[in-house]
This record gives sequence, structure tokens and C-alpha cells, in this order.
Amino acid sequence: MKKEDLVQLEIEDISSEGLGIGHAEGMAVFVKDTVIGDVIQAKIIKRKKTYAFGRLMEILKPSPDRVEPVCPVARQCGGCQLQAMSYPAQLAFKEQKVLGNLQRIGGFAPELLHQCMEPIIGMEEPFHYRNKAQFPIGRDRQGRLIAGFYAGRTHTIIDNHDCALGAKVNCQVLETVLQYMEENQVDPYDEETGKGRMRHVMIRMGFCTGEIMVCLVVNGKQLPKEEKLTAALSRISGMTSIVLNTNQERTNVILGRENRLLWGREYIEDFIGTVKYQISPLSFYQVNPVQTEHLYRTALEYAGLTGNETVWDLYCGIGTISLFLAKKAGKVRGVEIVPEAIEDARRNAALNGLTNTEFYVGKAEEVLPEKYEKEGIRADVIVIDPPRKGCQQQVLDTMVQMAPKRIVYVSCDSATLARDLKYLCQNGYELKRIRAVDNFCQSVHVESVALLQKSN
Ligand code: SAH
Repeated sequence: MKKEDLVQLEIEDISSEGLGIGHAEGMAVFVKDTVIGDVIQAKIIKRKKTYAFGRLMEILKPSPDRVEPVCPVARQCGGCQLQAMSYPAQLAFKEQKVLGNLQRIGGFAPELLHQCMEPIIGMEEPFHYRNKAQFPIGRDRQGRLIAGFYAGRTHTIIDNHDCALGAKVNCQVLETVLQYMEENQVDPYDEETGKGRMRHVMIRMGFCTGEIMVCLVVNGKQLPKEEKLTAALSRISGMTSIVLNTNQERTNVILGRENRLLWGREYIEDFIGTVKYQISPLSFYQVNPVQTEHLYRTALEYAGLTGNETVWDLYCGIGTISLFLAKKAGKVRGVEIVPEAIEDARRNAALNGLTNTEFYVGKAEEVLPEKYEKEGIRADVIVIDPPRKGCQQQVLDTMVQMAPKRIVYVSCDSATLARDLKYLCQNGYELKRIRAVDNFCQSVHVESVALLQKSN
């Protein structure tokens, strides 16, 4: 097989980047924009030693799970890798991915997994679930102002005000901003020259409260005739906060460090379950609040709290899980590496009147061993929600030494989850329950929660 060859493939699986995988001449070929079950013709565009990349030329026989994408620019945008797959098929694919990793990487027996695995929690309406969107502003070839998304892996803006994953109000906000720019000759930022004003428009919405925040990312400290823009935006129903964020760096990082309130409050509020959160422009907050509540409810159920337990929440972010647990625990101790996130966690604990929490800034792999070895602190239950690379070995080792009754592992990468569960199950724990939650409908990502119990 060589570059430019045409090959026929049946798509058998989807990679972690969302590329369809088929085999030709015994070699794996990765092809974008395909669905499991498609029979296709692809042109080889890159050939490596043990695998190749192909371009979709023709769908010879469409998969029974193929559907028409809701979004007209799904293919160019690349944000949703699975829009051409029916939602039930997406859920089955994600469940299979978690199961497959636990078997292959974790070495768990199929019979055990069959007993432990609970059905994936999907969404009734798997669109318009994101509470946050960041739209770059630019011009098209004709010089018209546009707002949308970068085409996959590039910095070309695809004009799209109505992302199928975003809140419906995004459209109205963007049109208001673009009209103001038109009427007041405000130029969009140009990455090539570093000139022009408006870089991005970030929109956040509290789905429970209906509160909306608009954060205008500006190459400068102000905008011409600011009051005209704020007057127009403030007429949008639910508008709560309008902020100007200054970013004068030549960088891909969207937000700068400096915010100035233009109108309303400095933050919006939202709830996950009964816990209230204040969200500032720079705060981290889960993007799918509906599914996040399912995820945390599952973690809480697995934690099996009766009211007296000491619980650790490692990689706690802004303390979302900690606060959820604190309502049912004796004491919750959270650890997180980002200092601003811990400030949010403490503020949100106070906002909810939760006095049984304590938060530590630092690396989980340093804070946990230190607290355990020097202060002899113990845990009845440990909850962990690490980034995609999973837990550091020191964290796993310390947890084994601390020997909590239960470990609840929340994970956004089932491959590292499987690796870490394998280690814990070789060192005194048993896998009892596991459940996937679809927080990122239309994309390849999936969250899962696992319950480990100390063996007798
Ligand atoms: N549990 C939170 C956030 C989970 S995301 C929630 O549900 O909202 C993972 C978090 O781990 C991030 O906030 C990241 O900043 C933090 N993190 C990454 N490496 C870390 C480390 N070595 N020690 C502690 N926290 C870390």
C-alpha cells in the first residue's frame, strides 16, 4: 500500500481522535468522517510503518447507524466527531470503548465486567447542552464580519452562530456584537498582523438560573462607544454580566488575565443539584451541567456515605464534587493544583454554608503522602477525578497504604482508568460497579465512574 492508492475498507471502530478505523492488506487505516459499519473507498494520504491515513472518497455502503448531521458545517468544524452516527449508536460505541479498555488494558474478566457495568447514562436531547462557548471573530474573503469556530486543526474561521451543541441564545448575542461592530467600524483582531480589536466572544449560561454572561475578549483596554454595545446586549433576556477581557498578547490562549465589568454583576450563578456556584469569566465549570449532575450523583451513590465519613476529593477543581459530597459526609478534604480553583472552592463552600470542607493547594502526589505520613490523616472514602493522564504512582501507592473502605474513581479517559484500576485491584481492592456517563454527546469523549471496595 502506498500514497495515492485507493482502498476499500469496512469501518470497525473509532479512534480516540474520532477517526474511523478499518483494515486493508492487514494494516489499520484511519479515515475521518466515517461511521462504524460504513463500507467506503478511501485514498491513502499518509503511510506510516504500521498504519496509514486515508481520505474518504466514497461511501460504498452506508452504516445502518449513519444519520444526516444536524449541523450543516459538522464536517469542516471538527468539534463533533460523531454527528453522523445515530445517538443510540454513539452510546453503544462509548460503552463498548470503556468495556474494551477495562478488558484489554485493565485485564478484567468479561464475566466480572458484565456483573459490574451499569448502563451508560445518555441525554434525552443530546444537543444544545453546552453552557459555555468561545467564538473567534474575523472576516471572510469578501470582508464580511463573521463569528464561529476554527476549522479542525486550523485557524480558519467557519462562520456559524448557531452551534448545535451551544445555548440557543448564542446566536442573538453574536448578531448583536457583529451589528455593533459594523455600525461603529470596530475591526476584528487579525492573528497575522496582531491588529484589530475584537478577538473572541465568550458566552456562558447558568442553565438552572437562566443567567447569561458575555465576555468580550479585546485587543486593548476598551471598545469604541462601549455603551452602545452594552445597551444592546443588556436587552437580551437573562443578561446578567457583561465583561471586557483584555488580551494584548500574540497568543493562542483565548482569555487574558484582566477583566473589567461593563454592565451588571461580575459573575453568574448556577446550580448542580442543590449546590450553588458562582462562575466568573476565568472560572472552570463543567460544560454539561445536566450530565455532570448525573455523574456526581453516581459518584455520591458509589461513595455510600452515611454522614460521618472522612472523605478525600483528589483533583477537586473548584470543589464541585467535594461540595456535593459534603452534604452527606462528616468531613471532605479537597486537593487541587490550581490556586484560583481552590479560591473558588472555598468561596462556593461558604456560599452554600458548608463548614465541613477543607481545601489544599498542591499536587495530589505531594499533598496526600505528606498529610498521611506526617499528620497521620486517614480516609473512609477517597474520590478521585484526575486529568486524562490518570493518577501518579505516588497517589495510587498512598491510597493503598491509607486503605479507605471505598475508592470512587471518576475518569474522562477510560484507558488510564483501566490502567489505574488494574494496579489498585492488584493491591487489595475489588471492582464493584462501573458506569459511563455521556457528558460530551456528538464527540468521542465519555466520562465514567468506578467503585472499588477494600477486599476482606
Ligand atoms: N473534580 C473537578 C475537576 C476535575 S478535572 C470537577 O469535577 O469539576 C482535573 C483537575 O485536576 C483539574 O482541575 C486540574 O487542575 C487538576 N490537576 C491536574 N494535575 C493535578 C495534580 N498533580 N494534583 C492535583 N490536581 C491536579
